[in-house]
Amino acid sequence: MDKPAPGGYAWFFMKSVKNHPRSFEENRYVYPVVSRRSRGISIGINMNPDKFCNFDCVYCQVDRTIPGIDPDIDILVLESELRVMIDLYESGQLQKHPNFEDTPLALLRLNDVALSGDGEPTLCKNFAAVCECVDRVRREPGRPKFKLVLITNATGLHRPEVQRGLGFFSSNDEIWAKLDAGTDAYLQKIDRTGLTLQPILDNLLMEGTKRPVIIQSLFLEYQGKGPDDAEIRAYLGRLAWLQKQGCRIQLVQVYSIARPPAESAAKPLSKERLERIAAKVRKLGLKAEMY
Ligand code: SF4
Repeated sequence: MDKPAPGGYAWFFMKSVKNHPRSFEENRYVYPVVSRRSRGISIGINMNPDKFCNFDCVYCQVDRTIPGIDPDIDILVLESELRVMIDLYESGQLQKHPNFEDTPLALLRLNDVALSGDGEPTLCKNFAAVCECVDRVRREPGRPKFKLVLITNATGLHRPEVQRGLGFFSSNDEIWAKLDAGTDAYLQKIDRTGLTLQPILDNLLMEGTKRPVIIQSLFLEYQGKGPDDAEIRAYLGRLAWLQKQGCRIQLVQVYSIARPPAESAAKPLSKERLERIAAKVRKLGLKAEMY
């Protein structure tokens, strides 16, 4: 591991990390979490209140048996919720919320506002308006500094609406993009999508030649089996291809399931196996962190 997560595996036992509710009080879109990967407070925006996603990952934690709400994000409501959340943070009230009661002080700093939620954010119809709204709020005098982070499966990065939204991202903001497979067969098995890898890789390349991207790779045991060696070789081959084509990969996050997924056949991959995968990623000359 290049840079261990604070507290190492103690993260898994912190209530605020273990429970990642995508709702907060009466809010429609905005929810705060302590994020292992942000190493601080991440204010999430649920970009898919209708719970729509073009993947159906076996490890997804979104409960789709409860229907979502209107897919269109009401920007006035979002802006109001975001302002209130940041005001709560600035006043210190947010940090005293029961959700954060066992969180070490060092982690109670605001790191980012994350475009994420109950589906795939790049499929959000008013993606650009959301980005513009967050950027407007953070530019207000006296606001605390925070990053904008897009957490995505990369399938919609090419959409003009998304490209317009990414125009509000500064060079300090980040894209965290999922890559869980090296073959189409494994992508279909784990992420359960009708899409193939190549358009996803093309989108990663398109964005990664403009700005560094963070790749998020979740490996797990599914139906009693982890990814075999051939799959990991194929996955490493995809990373190597991206690098060779000029994609700037800032970091690869190799991790497994930390919270109970919807499918009981999905189990965490062992720490040792994750470490071996991360070591192979590092052999490509990439920075890798393991969670
Ligand atoms: S991409 Fe994310 S929201 Fe979509 S199914 Fe997978 S884990 Fe769930």
